Amino acid sequence: MSDFNDRLALAAKCIADTDYIVVGAGAGLSAAAGLDYSGPKFKKEFADYISRYGFPDLYSSSFYEFPTEEERWARWARHIDYARFRPEAFPLYKELFTLVKDKNYFVITTNVDAQFRKAGFNPDKIFEVQGDYGMMQCAVGCHPTLYSDKETVRQILQNSHDLTVDKKYIPTCPVCGGNMDVHVRKNRYFVQDSEWEKAAQRYEDFITEYAENKRVVLIELGIGFNTPTIIRFPFEQITYHNPKATLIRLNSEYPDGPKETASRTIAFTENMSDVIQNLISKQS
Ligand SMILES: [Zn+2]
Repeated sequence: MSDFNDRLALAAKCIADTDYIVVGAGAGLSAAAGLDYSGPKFKKEFADYISRYGFPDLYSSSFYEFPTEEERWARWARHIDYARFRPEAFPLYKELFTLVKDKNYFVITTNVDAQFRKAGFNPDKIFEVQGDYGMMQCAVGCHPTLYSDKETVRQILQNSHDLTVDKKYIPTCPVCGGNMDVHVRKNRYFVQDSEWEKAAQRYEDFITEYAENKRVVLIELGIGFNTPTIIRFPFEQITYHNPKATLIRLNSEYPDGPKETASRTIAFTENMSDVIQNLISKQS
């Protein structure tokens, strides 16, 4: 990997020379931005859960099989409030917006924390593939409708005691009367409603029109090998098939890609905010 300043200069030139940018983001971006999944903020916020259940991090705590809906929703309410409702836009997301806002851009993300919308990105130019903590759905997807969970979460947080809550605060499906679940893809019941389908189509249209044969820059941030088939591998394939495409990969752990696209990949393992701020400063 070449010198940091050389890579910055090259990345800045590629961005300056293109009208089209595709941003792809995974959990590593929100972690770098300040969403603490396993560090001191998580340990403080979830101290009671950690001491009772030994949860090592926020992500794995969401897969714990609680015996009751009351306990399951009490934990989700804490989780959703912590990761989705309480944080304002993180500075790193705002910096990313500053970098791309004057381009024709599109965002695809596996993150479910709504940070792109909070930071000012056009909602019509965001595809949140894996859902949104701020919405809920029928737990078995009996009908393709999403509902805000903001009030549900607020009520549960206000009325929780000893890591559970009274049954009357637990949401039920308005159609089948069964359980509700947070709108995050974790099983085959994930609901893809009409808005999800429209966003998927807008993303496909953008890729077809601008990314497959025009001079395009793909900026990939914090995507590892949890779900690489959604963004990481497709971005590598676009770069491979389009000789006018450049992939800028920000990834502290997994910067390397296939050797076939190495000459048009600019990888950064450095601090994401440093990289973005440097690229912004080279724009002016
Ligand atoms: Zn239902």
